[in-house]
Amino acid sequence: MVTQKTTRSATRKRSKVTNDVLAKDILDLPLLPIHNTVLLPNLVTPLVVGREQSLKAIEDAMSKDRTLFVVTQLNEELENPGQDDLYTIGVEGMIDRVLKMPDGTTSVLLHGQRRLRRLEYTQHTPFMRVRAEIVHEETERTLAVEALVRAAMALFEKCVKLSNTLPEEAIITAMNIDQPGWLADFIVSALEPPVAVRQSILEAFNVEERSQTTCILLTKELNILELENQIHNQVQLEVDKNQREYFLREQLKAIQRELGETDPAFRENVELSEKILSSGMPEEVKVKASKELDRLNATPSMAPDGGVIRTYLDWLVSLPWDNASVDQLDIKEAARILEEKHYGLEKVKERILEYIAVRKLSENMRSPILCFVGPPGVGKTSLGRSIAEALNRRFVRLSLGGIHDEAEIRGHRRTYVGALPGRIIQTMKTAGTINPLFVLDEIDKIGVDFRGDPSAALLEVLDPEQNHAFSDHYLEVPYDLSKVIFLTTANVLHPVPAALRDRLEVIELPGYTEEEKMHIARQFLIPKQMKEHGLKPSRVEIDDEALHHIIRNYTFEAGVRNLEREIASVMRKVARKVAEGRRTKTKVLAEKLTDYLGSDQAALSYARSRSGQLGVESRFYEKYDIHLHLPAGSIPKDGPSAGITMATALISALTKRATRRDVAMTGEITLRGRVLPIGGVKEKVLAAHRAGIKTFILPKRNMKDLNDVPREVINELHFVPVERMDDVIAVALHTSTLSKDELEQMPMTVNAVKTRRVIAPKATARKLGANPQTP
Ligand code: ADP
Repeated sequence: MVTQKTTRSATRKRSKVTNDVLAKDILDLPLLPIHNTVLLPNLVTPLVVGREQSLKAIEDAMSKDRTLFVVTQLNEELENPGQDDLYTIGVEGMIDRVLKMPDGTTSVLLHGQRRLRRLEYTQHTPFMRVRAEIVHEETERTLAVEALVRAAMALFEKCVKLSNTLPEEAIITAMNIDQPGWLADFIVSALEPPVAVRQSILEAFNVEERSQTTCILLTKELNILELENQIHNQVQLEVDKNQREYFLREQLKAIQRELGETDPAFRENVELSEKILSSGMPEEVKVKASKELDRLNATPSMAPDGGVIRTYLDWLVSLPWDNASVDQLDIKEAARILEEKHYGLEKVKERILEYIAVRKLSENMRSPILCFVGPPGVGKTSLGRSIAEALNRRFVRLSLGGIHDEAEIRGHRRTYVGALPGRIIQTMKTAGTINPLFVLDEIDKIGVDFRGDPSAALLEVLDPEQNHAFSDHYLEVPYDLSKVIFLTTANVLHPVPAALRDRLEVIELPGYTEEEKMHIARQFLIPKQMKEHGLKPSRVEIDDEALHHIIRNYTFEAGVRNLEREIASVMRKVARKVAEGRRTKTKVLAEKLTDYLGSDQAALSYARSRSGQLGVESRFYEKYDIHLHLPAGSIPKDGPSAGITMATALISALTKRATRRDVAMTGEITLRGRVLPIGGVKEKVLAAHRAGIKTFILPKRNMKDLNDVPREVINELHFVPVERMDDVIAVALHTSTLSKDELEQMPMTVNAVKTRRVIAPKATARKLGANPQTP
């Protein structure tokens, strides 16, 4: 208390000294506590007032000189701040306007005047009042202040330029403020820093200090704005780019729509470009494709070049580049599939399962390339199909039979007219995935000649070192075959080039016994063919004897391909009967087989049917297997024109009647022994003439073809037109049967091997051989 009294009396003494001055500087004002903001001198702030206390203070001010002591509360959250909850330094606030709002609140527009320091509270209720003194600011414009003002102005300008919230006019306002302290207040209030910072500016009575704080604030703000801007620019750039692309694409679409209606070529090109993007091509290929597309776009739509490029691009986009099936490596499932589809072949199946097991252990391990070797129809290709099914891979096959030309494997260069990719790439297109199971059938049938060696290309296909970048002449870009599983098949191994053979793991399928064929037919072929012909077991039955008969008499093969074909013929006939209304079950019996299957070999059948007249043992065909051997067999003889010749040979052999050496003949034979016309008469006649033949038997209807034959040749030959086989025999065979000695002398070799005869009509063949390609 004593201390307080001393202080008070000391103040009183000082008051007396400067009494006049002080009296003017001390104000007695109602207090308005504010939160979230700081009112600064010379600035105008709108405030919403809701607290009873505050409303009373405003009312009081309005009744006098509209002035308040406006001060910020220390704790913003407080609803009713007491005297200890307010800063000491506040501002003399002049009420510009009071507005009653429709929601019941009151809005006041406060205009900051001078800085005030609270001296003491003079009233607490119903609102607070204070005695406060005016703070006189240091206004001297020192050099330092001048420098700070300039710096602040420069910084402020920059801030305004970068900021989205500061209005441009703020710069003009700032430029027109001539007092440094005021300028600082203005800038700080514009920047809207946190309340504590603003309060610190309010409390910085020294102008230099205030300007410095302002400059620091400005620098910070500028850094933030610059950073913000940088981020914004980056984002904007990204957005702009996307927007630009979007915009261009939309425009392109619009152009395409416009043009597309009139120019289908243009539309196609656009489609192509979309396909290139979605094809999954490796980058290298995409670049090539895009280049070609550019070329195409630059080519007039009618130019022939355009078609060539388009075909090329069509090929590129339709090949599988990254589309792959997912391997299934379930050994049990594989075993089930093999068992279900293939009879017997235990060793082969075991090897296939091992092969799948190895793949399962290491998918990257190089598995050997399996080669199924065996006669046609033993199930080589269908085994491949089953392996594909077991592995869940697409199945494709390519028959290499008769491929001589390397270009067939590798394609022709695009400079060739009508060039296409090779068969490997074509087959990959059919596969549609990059990892099919690819059967290369008949690798023993590829030929090597002047057109190149296809086996060399095949080596590249099968070589894991090279096949990841298989080169096709047409494609011009490497194609990855490394994910393909290759299987090969061959009838025999010896014609396969050694280099190729070395890569293969051979699995032999030697052929089936009759019993095995019976099983295969019963379990697989008959049910399959019945299904294919839409026949239920209640409709048809082939009895065992008939089946044996088919195997023995209608098929002569190690495999079961013809057997399947014969069964299919039977089913076809039965299906027809069912379709025609037959209700009962059809039983196919051995003795009725001819109704279903006829007889396949016309020449043999004729010989059989005329056995009585010709003096041949009537059931000779049960006793003998007849093998017709035509020398130089690799020369294709694809017509039926040797029909009468072979029939003559057979009859000659069976009746032991010799053929005349100076007779040549040509003509097709029907089952009933009629002789039908053939082609290539001129060549055949010339060949016969060269061979010194005197008599030429030919189908009557071919007589007209003699007009093309030179006169001098016609004059030297005796032509016998024939309509029936009987006419042929009458001319071609000697009437008497030969003795054993004579038989030996016969131009036709007849070898008796136990009960089987091998008949080789050498003479006939020689006659035919003169020009064998012509039918
Ligand atoms: P290849 O390729 O050896 O010439 P295919 O695979 O084309 O023979 O077989 C011909 C037909 O014979 C196919 O319908 C096949 O299903 C069938 N086939 C061959 N062997 C068997 C077998 N062991 N079990 C079941 N069907 C078989």
